[in-house]
Amino acid sequence: MRAGNRERVVHGHPCFGANRHRNGRIHLAVAARCNIACRYCDRRHDCANESRPGVASRLLTPKEGLEQVRSAMADPALSSVIKVVGIAGPGDPLANEESFETFRLVKAEFPELIFCLSTNGLVLRDRIADLATVDLHSITITINAVDAEVGAKIYKEVRYRGQRYCGEEGAAILIHNQFEGVRLAAEQGLLVKVNTVLIPGINDSQISPIAEKVRESGGYVMNVMPIIPQAELAGVDRPTQQYLESVRSAHEGIIAQFRGCQQCRADAIGLIGGCTVEAGNG
Ligand code: SF4
Ligand code: SF4
Ligand code: SF4
Repeated sequence: MRAGNRERVVHGHPCFGANRHRNGRIHLAVAARCNIACRYCDRRHDCANESRPGVASRLLTPKEGLEQVRSAMADPALSSVIKVVGIAGPGDPLANEESFETFRLVKAEFPELIFCLSTNGLVLRDRIADLATVDLHSITITINAVDAEVGAKIYKEVRYRGQRYCGEEGAAILIHNQFEGVRLAAEQGLLVKVNTVLIPGINDSQISPIAEKVRESGGYVMNVMPIIPQAELAGVDRPTQQYLESVRSAHEGIIAQFRGCQQCRADAIGLIGGCTVEAGNG
């Protein structure tokens, strides 16, 4: 465990539950491609695992990402709140070399910030050594199932090491890699948040085993998010606030639950749900 990393993230990162009314983040939308196909994903928009669909971000190059951080940090109103630089989409950050390049560029100029990434976890075990080179502080992995049978209802396809896998076969590879990724990331000293998209009628039974396995694998906090019904899963019900809260409360004893998620856009800047500035879209 890197000395001091846990305290740094816990106190500075709004998505890990700390000081979210004071600390903000800047998302850089540099990651275009994805390596899986979630049935709730509408690829015209941002990665629905971490970001609010409905408004597509303008894709940035790594240099434009750096420019965006520079201009935010030159604005006193933003620089006083921004503590985290995150890459969350619009596709999977680990499937795009641009994510690594962006972290290197921004880190060289703003070493005082916390660096964070969110991923579906498919290639996390393969990229863990590369992540060590960018000295990331925290990571979010979206895990929606532990059983491949349920996973197949959520994931249509997984593209791994040059092969395409469908149904339960693809889901099994993804799920295995996700938990292996949680374990390796935690071992490397990253603070790990797991996002779980709650899909009524599909993965209700999976929340408890996910929470247990995440804790066993070294995860720090869980963020149960309501499905935004769209694409192939447009017909499912969005969980009510009451149901969502009951699920979170039922698992608090297993692993800490983050309740402040606003399902932000992949290009959000500022405080969560507060003075968010929409960047890059004109
Ligand atoms: Fe879409 Fe994100 Fe799933 Fe990729 S990981 S298919 S971008 S929701
Ligand atoms: Fe928060 Fe995820 Fe962005 Fe990190 S990548 S700042 S956890 S939304
Ligand atoms: Fe944080 Fe949730 Fe927004 Fe990500 S989507 S920045 S976890 S509040």
